[in-house]
Amino acid sequence: LKYESVALVVGVTGIVGNSLAEILPRTDTPGSPWKVYGIARRPRPQWDANHPVEYIQCDISNPEETESRLSHLKDVTHLFYVTWASRPTEAENCEINSQMFRNLLNCIIPNAPKLQHICLQTGKKHYLGSFDSYGGVAHDPPYSEDLPRLNAPNFYYNLEDILFEEVEKKKGLTWSVHRPGTIFGFSPNSMMNIICTLCVYASICKHEGVAMRFPGTKEAWSSYSEASDADLIAEQEIWAVVDPYAKNEAFNCSNGDVFKWKHFWKVLAEKFEVECGEFEGGERLTLVELMKDKGSVWDEIVKENNLVPAKLEDIGLWWFVDYILGLEYPLDTMNKSKEHGFLGFRNSKTSFITWINKLKDSKVVP
Ligand code: NDP
Repeated sequence: LKYESVALVVGVTGIVGNSLAEILPRTDTPGSPWKVYGIARRPRPQWDANHPVEYIQCDISNPEETESRLSHLKDVTHLFYVTWASRPTEAENCEINSQMFRNLLNCIIPNAPKLQHICLQTGKKHYLGSFDSYGGVAHDPPYSEDLPRLNAPNFYYNLEDILFEEVEKKKGLTWSVHRPGTIFGFSPNSMMNIICTLCVYASICKHEGVAMRFPGTKEAWSSYSEASDADLIAEQEIWAVVDPYAKNEAFNCSNGDVFKWKHFWKVLAEKFEVECGEFEGGERLTLVELMKDKGSVWDEIVKENNLVPAKLEDIGLWWFVDYILGLEYPLDTMNKSKEHGFLGFRNSKTSFITWINKLKDSKVVP
C-alpha cells in the first residue's frame, strides 16, 4: 500500500492521542490512507493494541533517547503534538515542556524531509491562565482566538513560540494550534481525564454504599459549562493538517453546546446506580480530601470486577476534577473554526454517556 500521508502522534495513548490513533487509520479519514507512528513512554497498553499504529516507546524529555529512537522516521509528513509534562509550578512547566518539544522537533525536522505540517495542541488556559494563576489573570469570556496573551508565564506560549521559530526556518512547513477546554475522552493513561476520574469516584461511592456528593462550587454546579470531545478535537486537528484553508492559524475546539454539572451529575449517578448527591454549600468539598486513602478500596473493586489493572493514583485524578469543578466555567466561541470551514460539533450529553460506556466496555471501570 502506498501511503498518502504519514502521521507521527506524540502522546498516542493520551486522551486525544487515543482518538487520533483510532480515527487516522480509517479509510474515510481526510488525507487517507494514513500510516501512523505513535509515541509514549510506557509499554503499549492492552486497550491500544488493536489500533493499526506502529508503537514506539520513547521519552522525549531525553534528547539522546529521542534521537536514537525517532531519527529513523524519515517518511513523516504530519506531526500531531498531543502531550505535555506536569510540574508543580508554571515556571517549571515552561522549562520541561519547552525541552520536550525542542527535543522532538530537533530530531524530526532535519530527518523527515517531507514534513508538511505541525499540529500543536494546547488549551483554554491560553486565555484563562495557568493552573498556578487560578483564573487570577483571565480574560473575560467568551474566548476568541485573537485575544492577546496574558501577562503571566504559560507553557502554551513557550510552545507556540518554538513552533513559530521552527516553521519560519523551513519553507513550506505549515502549522496549526488547537485550544480545547475540558476534554471528554477515553484514555486511562491521561494526566487529565475528567470522565474517567468521575467514573472511578462513582464506583467507589457505589461500592461503599454512599451518595455521590458533589465536590464543587455553586458556580460549577449551576452555571453553564462546556466540554471538548476527544474525537471532535482529533477531527479538527486532521482537518487542519489537510485543508489548505486552515493553515497557520489557532483554533478553539469545543462541542458547540452548553450543559450544567447538576444535570450531568444525575446522568453519572444513573450510569453507576448510585444515589445522586446535590450541591451542599458550606465548606468546599474536594475529591482530594474525600478520596484520600481509597487505594485499597479501588484495588478491591478492580479484583471483584476483573478490571484492567490500574492503581488509583493513576486513574483517579482528583486534583484535576477539583480544579474544573471549582470554576465558573469560561466559555469560548467556535466562530473562527466554523468561518474557516470546520463545522464539526458534538452533543455533550451524548459524548458524556458514550465515553462512560466505552470505559465500562473496556473494563477500566465497573
Ligand atoms: P494526556 O495526558 O492525555 O496524554 C499524554 C500522552 O503523552 C500520553 O500518551 C503519555 O503516555 C505521553 N507522554 C507523556 N510524557 C511523555 C514523554 N516525556 N515522552 C513521550 N510521551 C509522553 O495529554 P492531553 O491530550 O491531555 O494533553 C495535550 C495538551 O492538551 C496539553 O497541553 C494539555 O494541557 C491540553 N489540554 C488537555 C485537557 C484535558 O482535559 N486533558 C483540556 C485542555 C487542554 P506515557 O505517560 O506512557 O508517556
